[in-house]
Amino acid sequence: MTELKGALIGCGFFSINQMHAWNDVEGARIVAICDRDPARLKVVGDQFGIDRRYSDAEALFADGGFDFVDIATTVESHRALVEMAARHKVPAICQKPFAKTLSDAKIMVETCRNAGVALMVHENFRWQTPIQAVRKALEAGAIGTPFWGRFSFRSGYDVFSGQPYLAEGERFIIEDLGIHALDIARYILGDVSAVTARTTRVNPKIKGEDVATILLDHKNGATSVVDVSYATKLSTEPFPETLVELDGSKGTIRLTQGYGLKVTNAQGTTTTNVSPKLLPWASRPWHNIQESVYAIQQHWVDQLKRGMEHSTSGADNLRTFALVEGAYESAAKGQTIDVGAML
Ligand code: NAD
Repeated sequence: MTELKGALIGCGFFSINQMHAWNDVEGARIVAICDRDPARLKVVGDQFGIDRRYSDAEALFADGGFDFVDIATTVESHRALVEMAARHKVPAICQKPFAKTLSDAKIMVETCRNAGVALMVHENFRWQTPIQAVRKALEAGAIGTPFWGRFSFRSGYDVFSGQPYLAEGERFIIEDLGIHALDIARYILGDVSAVTARTTRVNPKIKGEDVATILLDHKNGATSVVDVSYATKLSTEPFPETLVELDGSKGTIRLTQGYGLKVTNAQGTTTTNVSPKLLPWASRPWHNIQESVYAIQQHWVDQLKRGMEHSTSGADNLRTFALVEGAYESAAKGQTIDVGAML
């Protein structure tokens, strides 16, 4: 199997997970890195033994010598870097949030399509072992046809110490975390026709909203609630678990705190432990996310080699991103937003 060569742009907080995962992924390795901050470039270059180091992405692309680029910067630079990759005909992975606005995201998808290069958004939450287990149970027909769901992420974890920029944006929880839960809702219950949302800010030290409650009308007639909070103090901190409840015509699924999958139907109730693996480089409680980083990156390589569309392609992610924008618009106007009209 030929090994693909990759370049990573953005050597910040989360890129360490991506670099560890690239070491584990079969069929690819990182040959060059780029960050405009020399200190970050040195930390990641030294830790992972990468000699080709760039402070400027244009210089990286001009030198070339890689088959794909992994863009792990924050959102401000995503459009420019994805367009740069398209210009150089290099397939690209782009971190979430994909873009600053839905119209930017649409242009990025179109640009890559016209250039004939693959584009995948690093939307990793649907790749978590427990979420995959929920989808498998549903697909196996364990609860019949689902008519209601809840996708819940409520925590009091201090995310601001590792990612200080999260305290500074006008928008916070829907754009940063809700985006993952909305993607899971789509992955499990299908696309959405309308979104209604309410938001609030509890933590006075941050600028954006840290609590959101979102109602989704799915195209198949199911209704779901996506509720996210970073202002919820619980006796056992669930970070970073997304809890799932599904009611179907023949039973129910509950993904409970501590990674228990409970399926109830006419045969009774079965409870399975669907804990993620603790990869050698991972650490609790992040291991659930870290394992999904490995899984999505392996998927990137496998699909690229087969020439097939990725589960979270840029085009797919437009439908998740529309829910983010729709939720903010709904909360601002106090109205239900037609998602179809946005796409
Ligand atoms: P960070 O600020 O720690 O790191 C970003 C790095 O990119 C910085 O070192 C910065 O110098 C560099 N950079 C920015 N623009 C650049 C450019 N044009 N050229 C070269 N380098 C540039 O941010 P982070 O916390 O690592 O987050 C990065 C992205 O990952 C964000 O979009 C965030 O939402 C996402 N993220 C995803 C998950 C997940 O589970 N999928 C978790 C955490 C963060």
